[in-house]
Amino acid sequence: MNFSSTEQSSQNSEQAKQASWVLGIDLGGTTIKFGLFRGPQLIWRNHIRTDDYESPEAAFESCRDSVQRTLEESSQSLDDLQAIGLAMAGVLDPKAEELAETANLHRWHQLNFRQQLSSVFQKPVFLLNDADAAALAESAHGLCRADSLVLMTLGTGVGGGVILDGRPVRGANGCGGEIGHATIEFGDAARQCGCGFPGHLEAYAGAGGVIQTAIETLARSSDPSALRKLDPITPLSIANAAADGDAIAMDVIHQTGVLIGRAIAMLAHVVDPDVVLLGGAMTFGGPGTDTGKRFLQSIREECYPRTLVQISSHLKIEFATLGNDAGIVGAAHYARLANEARQALNA
Ligand SMILES: [Zn+2]
Repeated sequence: MNFSSTEQSSQNSEQAKQASWVLGIDLGGTTIKFGLFRGPQLIWRNHIRTDDYESPEAAFESCRDSVQRTLEESSQSLDDLQAIGLAMAGVLDPKAEELAETANLHRWHQLNFRQQLSSVFQKPVFLLNDADAAALAESAHGLCRADSLVLMTLGTGVGGGVILDGRPVRGANGCGGEIGHATIEFGDAARQCGCGFPGHLEAYAGAGGVIQTAIETLARSSDPSALRKLDPITPLSIANAAADGDAIAMDVIHQTGVLIGRAIAMLAHVVDPDVVLLGGAMTFGGPGTDTGKRFLQSIREECYPRTLVQISSHLKIEFATLGNDAGIVGAAHYARLANEARQALNA
């Protein structure tokens, strides 16, 4: 075989890889989202309600039937599906490749989701944490792509996914990237985190923490604020009040940004990523609003002066861009990477 035919053959094999079908599943407590990808392209997506199914097996069978019908409509079959990526919240046991603990699926009293899914589809299944899936999706397909990237997800809790060299880092015990449980307050007055330990970021930057900051800020001040009339106060009402110019609400968002900025500064000296992204439901309006932009500014202004110049001059801090699709996009991307690595090992 001469050089040009070797090159041709390598191109063909690359095209075949690019065109292979994979399925990405994002299994949440409320919804199970799934999407079929041909190469990196999302071809079709669907979702079912988690509560409609008595067991994960029943839910996975429903996914399989739906995927099978769709493939057949494109003159394909389940045989053409190469692999499945399954993204879930919870702590993964890296050795068993199953969940060691899950936060939001207590109704289903089991942890062997990967095995169940593999048995229903008769395909290789690769399991990853949902924050890692979202981070991987942003790293490979978001607006701010980078092989070295951290995603912080802000919502009820504060999650995180770390991508290095284009791959998620979960660590020896499945807890790598759990930025929400980094300690940022050390004094006696440090708030208790939901996990039971004091001073964690989540106790300040999770939804409950932000509400607590609002209550404490209102108690310290006699200034008028729309928040005084609200019961309960929510992160959304804080964002809305800030958008209307409410000084207390703006201060609450600034305080939250400062603490997130400190956490990112700590993290940046461990991981040194090119990009840190803020995602999740609680970004105070996100990139399309002045309130969201001010929140991001508070984070940057606290973070950059605390980091070595080599970091602060390069590190980008931005909002995530993939939204609700990030879980299925990341799960499918991971399945493709992991399946290729496995095939290379077996070759
Ligand atoms: Zn904690």
